Amino acid sequence: MPALTHSLSRRALLTGLGTLAMPALVRAQAASAHVVVVGGGFGGAAAARHLRLYHGTLRITLVEPAARHYTCAFSSHYLAGLRDWESLGHGFDALRAMGIDVVHAAAVDVDPVGRTIALSDGQRLVWDKLVLSPGVDMRWGQLAGYDAQASMHAPHAWKAGAQTRLLREQLQAMPDGGTFAIVIPPSPYRCPPGPYERAALVAHYFRAHKPRSRILLLDAKNDFSKKPLFLQGWKALYGDMIDWRSLDDDGQAVRIDALRREVETASGALHHAHVLNVIPPQKAGWIAERAGVTDASGWVPVKATNFESRQQAHVHVIGDASIAAPMPKSGASANSQGRLVAAAISAELQGQAAPQAWYTNTCYSLIGPEHGISVAGVYRAQNDRLLEVAGAGGISPLDAPAWFRAAEARYGAAWYTAIGADTWGH
Ligand SMILES: Cc1cc2nc3c(=O)[nH]c(=O)nc-3n(C[C@H](O)[C@H](O)[C@H](O)COP(=O)(O)OP(=O)(O)OC[C@H]3O[C@@H](n4cnc5c(N)ncnc54)[C@H](O)[C@@H]3O)c2cc1C
Repeated sequence: MPALTHSLSRRALLTGLGTLAMPALVRAQAASAHVVVVGGGFGGAAAARHLRLYHGTLRITLVEPAARHYTCAFSSHYLAGLRDWESLGHGFDALRAMGIDVVHAAAVDVDPVGRTIALSDGQRLVWDKLVLSPGVDMRWGQLAGYDAQASMHAPHAWKAGAQTRLLREQLQAMPDGGTFAIVIPPSPYRCPPGPYERAALVAHYFRAHKPRSRILLLDAKNDFSKKPLFLQGWKALYGDMIDWRSLDDDGQAVRIDALRREVETASGALHHAHVLNVIPPQKAGWIAERAGVTDASGWVPVKATNFESRQQAHVHVIGDASIAAPMPKSGASANSQGRLVAAAISAELQGQAAPQAWYTNTCYSLIGPEHGISVAGVYRAQNDRLLEVAGAGGISPLDAPAWFRAAEARYGAAWYTAIGADTWGH
């Protein structure tokens, strides 16, 4: 039996002692409660940091294998040569300085009933509350021919790291006049506008370095986030360089030959690319499945009020892994959910009223260095469902003047700096 007992279980037992004694007891227990956060990306790091801001004495452990987290957000800027690799990296020293115990290991097993978690370094931690923000894993094999091995030839680059660098190397080595193809999955997937921003920024790179090249988007959908703005921006900046094929226009890929860099679409047509970027269907990071919180969709159903799992009490799942529609799977959403969950856990442990569940998302996309567009939304819980608040968000206007697009490009860069500080503390 681990030495650390469950503060909340103790609290449940102590309710028999009478309500007058409760506040002091709850405060005493909160001081010794332990919250374990898995994943040091947008969701997990934001949750850990805000837990500390809300609660000075809570024991907080953040479990993340990487010494630095490299963001997918702005990774297409790196592909286009607009940012260097290290500018995407975020270390954990600022969180450590706040008294958060950062453990560089992977979570390998979760016992949601005994409230323990096993780590790859052999440790087993006991927790009172668990926050999971493991991001996504790929559904290898769902798209015929595309598995982990195939991604070494036709990278997905949908998790920032070696895959992103491989794609950049391939783009740099591609001959002028070549074809860069992106295979885009059906929804839901990480970062709905991400593939379209990637197409734009690679077009920017091609225009300067390989102007006879073309970009082919093979899409399993007919519609996508900020579509009119992307179509207008692509045309204005890159003419006909980007060729988007929708589902109705035979865009759906059904088979990949990664070695030959070939894509077969639903009609049987074959497309050959010099560089092939396959974004496969995705699911919640596998530790969520291991914790018993995923459903048949592969994602995690959660309560709208505090992102607690609908299957396991005291386990909160945030970020891309959760089912949070209409919120998109974005870094901004994950950060917002992490902040709310931190407030909710902190309030519960201190015997305070639960916070009102409001969330936000702001998503900037860059079409060229001086051409930014954005969409923003505000969401709230009502009858345990997430609803978008009508009139509270918005999208960039079509036909905006150049100064407006340039300003949005600057706001996007400022957003990245600000959310980095809010999430990792630097
Ligand atoms: C090309 C691209 C562009 C994007 N652009 C934007 C953008 O401009 N704006 C925006 O808001 N969003 C953007 N996104 C989306 C954004 O990256 C994700 O939505 C966001 O990272 C989700 O946060 P998360 O915490 O769920 O997952 P992540 O940020 O991926 O963090 C998950 C972390 O969990 C860790 N982990 C996984 N499993 C375990 C385990 N078993 N044990 C311990 N740790 C584990 C991982 O190492 C990782 O560090 C983009 C995505 C892509 C692919």
